Amino acid sequence: MSTFQDLGLNDDLLQAITDLGFTKPSEVQEKAIPILLESETDLVALAQTGTGKTAAFGFPMLEKIDINSRTTQGLILSPTRELCLQITNEMKQYGKYCKGLNVVAIYGGSSITDQAREVKRGAQIIVATPGRMKDMISRRLVDISKIQYSVLDEADEMLNMGFKEDITDILSHTPEDKNTWLFSATMPREVATIAKKFMKDPQEITVGNKNESTNQVSHEYYLVNARDRYQALKRLSDANPDIFSVVFCRTKRDTQKVAEQLIEDGYSAGALHGDLSQNQRDLVMKSFRNKQIQTLVATDVAARGIDVDDITHVINYQLPDEPETYTHRSGRTGRAGKTGISMVIVSKSEVRKIKSIERIIKKQFEKKEIPDGADICEVQLMSLANKIHNTEINHEIDKHLTSINELFADTDKDELIKKFFSVEFTRFYNYYQKSKNLNVSESSRDREGGRESGRNFGGKNDSTRYFINVGGKDGFDWMKLKDFLKEQLNLGRDDVFKVETKDSFSFFNTENELKEKVLAHFTDFKHEGRFVNVEVSENRGGGGRRDRKGGGRRDGGRRDDRRGGRRRDDRKEGSGNRSERRRSDSASKPRRSDSGGSGISRPRRSRR
Ligand code: ADP
Ligand code: MG
Repeated sequence: MSTFQDLGLNDDLLQAITDLGFTKPSEVQEKAIPILLESETDLVALAQTGTGKTAAFGFPMLEKIDINSRTTQGLILSPTRELCLQITNEMKQYGKYCKGLNVVAIYGGSSITDQAREVKRGAQIIVATPGRMKDMISRRLVDISKIQYSVLDEADEMLNMGFKEDITDILSHTPEDKNTWLFSATMPREVATIAKKFMKDPQEITVGNKNESTNQVSHEYYLVNARDRYQALKRLSDANPDIFSVVFCRTKRDTQKVAEQLIEDGYSAGALHGDLSQNQRDLVMKSFRNKQIQTLVATDVAARGIDVDDITHVINYQLPDEPETYTHRSGRTGRAGKTGISMVIVSKSEVRKIKSIERIIKKQFEKKEIPDGADICEVQLMSLANKIHNTEINHEIDKHLTSINELFADTDKDELIKKFFSVEFTRFYNYYQKSKNLNVSESSRDREGGRESGRNFGGKNDSTRYFINVGGKDGFDWMKLKDFLKEQLNLGRDDVFKVETKDSFSFFNTENELKEKVLAHFTDFKHEGRFVNVEVSENRGGGGRRDRKGGGRRDGGRRDDRRGGRRRDDRKEGSGNRSERRRSDSASKPRRSDSGGSGISRPRRSRR
């Protein structure tokens, strides 16, 4: 095992490393740093999240750039603004003794002029998200024509997010003879293609097996009916009273919905997704880091690069579209040498996805049962008992002790304990007393299961596929069409998917909830002088499998959807839905208003 000294770093950097408390290099650092220091080379480094990649490229870059010059010499591209800020922060810490060093973050959602001003002051290193970077280049607010070192961090994720063209564009403004260092957790084909296209004889290092997920994480799945997903999530949380978790949803909409419902049900939860302002996201992340929030509900994009060390559980509320994404999700736990659990809530139609994930992570999932009410009550009761046992006594109580003792003069210890615990426990017990078994057996052919698999296609639930009468001939490729739809419908990045353009027509998907909106928007709609028509399609995408008959019928289906149904659905989105939910839940759920404060399942440090 070498030390940071052995790797050949200078004293300023070594001092910063000591301050950071890094005692020895991680594997990726041990392998990458000497290569990058000793030669002018391109590099492809594959390593899981949490293995210290930032320092693996950060230290060599800091060592190699000329700090006395104000020219921008290093460019680090990363997929999200959170990650961009995180890297900037780390780089500043690594370089805190490098006098005159200026590292600037460039990312969307924040003032471009402020960022341009910072760059102008002389940034030797720029850390950027591709979108904003491209924007700044086209407005000539940055000059990257003298870059010597470029880093593509989380390359797989950048490509996943559709940044390929932006990256290509950005790199075309950099010198031919620069070095490119590509870091990635996984090596899908697209990454290999990028590496081939932009790099010259890159050296390769791999830490652990390619695409293997961290060993510290165990993987579990729970099979339930799709409609019980949320109840299952609650039980998994309740069965783990000290849980500190990230819950992943597929869309921003679901993310928001699940977080809101958890909060309503008394959990300390927060949502993190791209529709929130930068400020809101920062606040949520801050609360999460401080553990004021126990459950962070997030989209993949927003949660990318979250670096919080003590996450105990990752819960896949829904599986990601791409099996590779699972690696990123589960990598949020089991960091810094700790163990973690990655849980997946699946419905029957998705079970086969587990198999493809197993192949990628080269680990087996354990099928587990959603705990029943009695189990959860026991866990909660024992957790409460432990908490009480470990509670430090507040001696302010002493002066009231006489009157309290008088009140309990006739109560013996057992009875007192029972009463004491009942204050918290009864509410909880009542909730779970009549709870049903949520587990579905893999082989059973119950009605729900049958319906489920009939409704799904290509592994995706709840989505509608559309036909649109524009395509390649009208100048649309899939990305342009996606942008066009997002803009027209005022939707976010995740909301339009499976976009497939043909010559004179195309297909795309949205969640079912958006169907009314989509169809209404494209009624009598003209774009550049011609009618653009959108219909619900029978082509379900993803391998040409067909939907069940019905909802997909071109004309009839669409008309029906548009009339009458519209109103009904509007109401569902609004208050009607809410009161309905309250009513149906109140029978089985402990209501917060009844509890007069924190319930057992609620974390101690919840919102005030
Ligand atoms: P990755 O980019 O591979 O996901 P990071 O670079 O974000 O990982 O590092 C993960 C965490 O490990 C960070 O908190 C970082 O400060 C810490 N870290 C990095 N290198 C070391 C080291 N050599 N010793 C101890 N901690 C380290
Ligand atoms: Mg990283």
